[in-house]
Amino acid sequence: MGECMVELRTDEYSATSLHQSFAGDVYNSAVYLKRCFDDVFVGFVTVTGDDTFSHRMRKGFESESLDTSMVFTHPTRATGLYLIDTDDDGERSFTYWRSESAAKTIVSFLNVDVLNSLTSNDMFMFSGISIAIIPPDERVPFFNFIKALKNKGVKLVFDPNYRARLWTSLADAKANFEQALSLSDIALVGVEDMGELFGLASSDDVMELCQSHSVDEVVIKNGPSSVLTSLNGKYEEHVITPVSKVVDTTSAGDAFNGVYLGGRLQNLPISHCVSMAAKAAGTVIQHRGAIIPKGVVEATLEGVHKSTLASDLTT
Ligand code: AMP
Repeated sequence: MGECMVELRTDEYSATSLHQSFAGDVYNSAVYLKRCFDDVFVGFVTVTGDDTFSHRMRKGFESESLDTSMVFTHPTRATGLYLIDTDDDGERSFTYWRSESAAKTIVSFLNVDVLNSLTSNDMFMFSGISIAIIPPDERVPFFNFIKALKNKGVKLVFDPNYRARLWTSLADAKANFEQALSLSDIALVGVEDMGELFGLASSDDVMELCQSHSVDEVVIKNGPSSVLTSLNGKYEEHVITPVSKVVDTTSAGDAFNGVYLGGRLQNLPISHCVSMAAKAAGTVIQHRGAIIPKGVVEATLEGVHKSTLASDLTT
């Protein structure tokens, strides 16, 4: 569940053209999950408008084979939009138009019928951005909704994805993240995010914070340095092979999340899921944009995925 936005970015070949696509953290994860694990049912829960961009966005979801039965339509609001500008030194800056976006009204659509439909799924993923965009007075009903999902056996998956500009205060963000972590079965957490918010410097510190909220399965992403995992108290540190030419780190963590969860939904061991996820993220950062052309990540995983499954069958 999250917000997908219209993404505009300056064209690398023309100063006067803009390239348009669609992106958003949980949406990006859904796309990479579905692309890499075609037999997994993946739906996106969001609200779009009834405008031209919204209609195109919905077609975009369909073209990624995502289920759209939980894509609601707001009669008057439009989708959010952001611009990625790259200056002459390659430094990127972001400008957002999302304060009145349709996705912010998601809680008004989360009724009992939606709850019952969602209980047929294994997992429900949301992020710090999904919470941040919900008006503060609607967060209690949101947390009650996901609590009810959890009580019906759906695993809750949370990535804090802290974006300071979306929160009114550090205290508000911390309180919401702590509540989300306490409810989560799986936490996929970037060290950089938590460093900024909780003043934590290392993967171990972030792991300790997640453990203090009794999260069963924790994945701590620390860029090219390493990934630290724990499943029911069993810790593992995974080595990441750094990519020599990073083009654009947008959605590295999102791609990682999608592929990791896809692997876990196939009951693959944590270390295999991390190696596939890291390979996917390492591929995405060698291309521009959040969603890279179809087929690229899938091709890099082809060998890993098959050999993973083969070794599972023989061990
Ligand atoms: P981050 O959100 O920065 O921790 O990145 C998410 C994931 O992307 C990491 O866990 C790595 O698997 C991958 N990643 C990020 N930066 C690099 C890099 N420079 N080289 C290789 N993989 C990377």
